[in-house]
Order: sequence, then C-alpha cells, then structure tokens
Amino acid sequence: MAWRSHGVDNQDLVRALTANAIVRHKRVKEAMLLVDRGRYVPKNEMQSAYEDRPLAIGHGATISAPHMHAACLELLETRVRAGSRVLDVGSGTGYLSACLASMASERGEVVGVEHIEELVETSIENVRADGKSAWLANGRLTLRCGDGRLGYPEKAPYDAIHVGAASREVPRALIDQLAIGGRLVIPVGDEGGQALMVIDKLEDGSLMKKMEMGVVYVPLTDRESQLKRWF
Ligand code: SAH
Repeated sequence: MAWRSHGVDNQDLVRALTANAIVRHKRVKEAMLLVDRGRYVPKNEMQSAYEDRPLAIGHGATISAPHMHAACLELLETRVRAGSRVLDVGSGTGYLSACLASMASERGEVVGVEHIEELVETSIENVRADGKSAWLANGRLTLRCGDGRLGYPEKAPYDAIHVGAASREVPRALIDQLAIGGRLVIPVGDEGGQALMVIDKLEDGSLMKKMEMGVVYVPLTDRESQLKRWF
C-alpha cells in the first residue's frame, strides 16, 4: 500500500497510513500525530506536505515519504521505549528524530546527526516551529552536524539506530555503537536501489540480519560528493 497514504492534513495522513496497515502500533501513531510533517517540509513544498511521497529539501537531500518513516518507526518500535537511547543518522529535516524523541519519552535521548550544516540549522528551526523547543533544551533531542558514518560515540551505546541514507556497506562504527539487544535499520546497496536491512545485536554480541524490503534512498556519503550530485 506504499505511496497511497495521502492526507489533507497531518491527522488525515496518519489516518491513511493506519488504514493501509503501515502504521500498526499505537505508539507509532501517537508519535506521528504529535509531530506535524507540515512543520518539516520547505515552505515551497507546503502544498504537498501530507502527500505520501518524498520531497526535495535542497543540498541533494529529501524528506523521506511518510510510508517509509512509518515503516522504520514500526521496525524500531520494540527498541524505542521510555528512556531509550536512539541515533538517527542523516537526520535531514529532523522529522524522524522528533518522532523517535516522542517515542523515547522525556527520559529518552535521541541524537540526530546530519552532515550539511544548513540542514541541521533548519531542522532545529523545524523542531522549534513544531512546538518542541523544550526537547532541544532538556537533551531529549539533540541535532548535530557531523559525519554519521562515524555514529555519535558520546552517547553510545544505542538501543536503536536508524540510518536515513543508503550505504554499500554497514559502517563499522554503527555496529560498534549498537547496544546488546539493540536494533539497526539501514538501507544497504548501490544508488539504483537498496535493501532495507534490520540488524539485531544479540546477547552474545553476534548479529542477526534480515532484509525487510526493497527501497530507494539518497546515498550515505561525504559532503562534497553529495553537493556535487546536487549542482
Ligand atoms: N530522515 C531524513 C532523511 C533525509 S535524506 C528526513 O526524512 O528528513 C538523507 C540525509 O542523509 C540527507 O539529509 C543527507 O544530507 C544525509 N547524509 C548523507 N550522508 C551523510 C553522512 N555521511 N553523515 C550525515 N548525514 C548524511
């Protein structure tokens, strides 16, 4: 049912995602109702904010389609609980980081790492415009500029790691920064198309990998290569 969950406003979008069984858990639904996608898309795309498709946000990046955000939140639902530590690599607009912070509750800590400084600044403005300045002030949500391939060791280990850009290989640092019992969701593959992989770190430290679905994401790369693709 991907691509079919259009809405006229945020509530209607979440209703459509739920009707199409992409949103299944109450906690995912509540998070997506609390975080208004319209606050995270560029002003010139506002008329499409509640359509179920990705939108360009400049700098060679996109805000993912709502059904992809919902699918990733569903895959991470069991790992993002009250008090969880969560890393969102390639946080872009800050939308998904905010949804994750909603699910991790006030005791949780969510870090979004994005390598384009302008996008980090905009993401902070978006979160503020969405009425969540307190989350930024009290450490529930941190948005930082950096190379997400290196993770964010300061707050590791993480119960959940989401990567919003595609990589040919899973960066070692992300595996290392995953807690025992934690889950990493990452699109793996070349630019044409990728597999959304779910990687669980088991009690003995071994990894269990499962391919969830075929996806198309922008690449997890260095800043220069990304901007070169844009111009
Ligand atoms: N979840 C975000 C996805 C944005 S698209 C959203 O829906 O808003 C993927 C993002 O990954 C882009 O913003 C891009 O700039 C960022 N990115 C790509 N390579 C990166 C890297 N090495 N480190 C951090 N961010 C990266």
